[in-house]
Amino acid sequence: MARINFGYLPQGNPCAQCRKPIATPEWIENGPNRTSYLWHCWACDYRFEAVAFFDEQDSDPEALVA
Ligand SMILES: [Zn+2]
Repeated sequence: MARINFGYLPQGNPCAQCRKPIATPEWIENGPNRTSYLWHCWACDYRFEAVAFFDEQDSDPEALVA
């Protein structure tokens, strides 16, 4: 079961091109100590990726086991 820390989920992220807010990421990919978010702007069809890095000190060691 995937564990998602919703405290790190950016919502209402502005489009990098036209600045319109995007409610939720189109795709979320979890990696070691980081989560990648793929944003797709409905207004201008621009796609971009944002990566959230986790502080290792705040990580649950059990969550790092693949
Ligand atoms: Zn846009």
